[in-house]
Amino acid sequence: MELQLSEQPLQAPPGTVPDLKSMTLEELTAALREMGEPAFRGKQVFAWLHRGVRSFEEMTDLAKPLRARLGERWRLEPPVAARRQVSRLDGTIKYLWELSDGSCIESVLMSYRHGNTICISSQVGCRMGCAFCASTIGGKVRDLRPSEMLDQVIFSQLDSGREISNIVLMGIGEPMDNLDNVLRFLELVNHPMGLNIGMRHVSLSTCGIVPGIRRLADLGLQLTLSVSLHAPDSGTRSALMPVNRAYDVEELFEACHAYFRKTGRRISFEYAMVDGVNDADWQADLIVKKLRGMPGHVNLIPLNNVRESPLKPSRRTAAFQRRLESQGVAATVRRSLGGDIDASCGQLRRKAMEKKEGEL
Ligand code: SAH
Repeated sequence: MELQLSEQPLQAPPGTVPDLKSMTLEELTAALREMGEPAFRGKQVFAWLHRGVRSFEEMTDLAKPLRARLGERWRLEPPVAARRQVSRLDGTIKYLWELSDGSCIESVLMSYRHGNTICISSQVGCRMGCAFCASTIGGKVRDLRPSEMLDQVIFSQLDSGREISNIVLMGIGEPMDNLDNVLRFLELVNHPMGLNIGMRHVSLSTCGIVPGIRRLADLGLQLTLSVSLHAPDSGTRSALMPVNRAYDVEELFEACHAYFRKTGRRISFEYAMVDGVNDADWQADLIVKKLRGMPGHVNLIPLNNVRESPLKPSRRTAAFQRRLESQGVAATVRRSLGGDIDASCGQLRRKAMEKKEGEL
């Protein structure tokens, strides 16, 4: 069954041509029809785009004049791998992509026994302002287009030669601050004539934008929702995450319970362990209380040191985990991959930005 998630017609920013690769098969077919082409051309072009061609010339089963006409009308703007770091510890690859406007984003390709997972960015920068996160330091520059999310998957796969089976939307940016484009990306990446990656193989992580969680609940997708919790009490959460002042943690828990009731799907809660801030026993106990009635899973993340932040990693992770588990809440400690290559979000982009600034 094909997904139909895009409610909004695709719109090009003023002064630009519409983005061919962000189009659904139906939109692409209509665009080619307008050029006087038969319906099956839409399928041909769609398949080529999703295979990662870098120019219309590579679409070898189209007649040369048509390739030229496509080239006059549209532009393909594949990202360039500006940097590629491969971990010697575990083979994790971190990509720094340069986009057509010169913006940089990151993706991280991780290999597990059950397959290869790509962690992709959803925005250039981020405006959520979390105290521990490198991605938000320079603010948000712009949203990524659906094609720019798709290209991270396609070109990481082509570049590495590793077939990608899983996607996590946990890179730079807040997916629910760009939800229309994210939903369109999901529809594209799920398409049988494209990468055909099933919703069960997708995770979407949010800092807790309640209307987005409610919208996703209504769509009833099979994906895994991750919520970056980081504190179960309002005071601590507001200090770490400004979004808590817009959508308080009480309201967030309510939306999570509603999400579970509607979809029957277990939510994963991310929890970066910060020394002396969110790692006390009473906070573990409060998590247990708030999750009652819902089979949540808490993923404890050893805090990655961010140079610009004074926060330090907790030394109580194991005790915190035991306290949750002993009260019936599933809790795991995230295994860290790519420790030797700045694999946590936003750090490579920060370095590239500093280098650029230094060169000016
Ligand atoms: N904006 C989304 C997705 C991107 S961040 C969200 O907030 O969920 C992916 C995860 O990494 C989030 O749980 C985020 O809180 C966490 N994270 C960010 N910086 C971190 C750091 N320095 N150490 C550990 N986890 C961090």
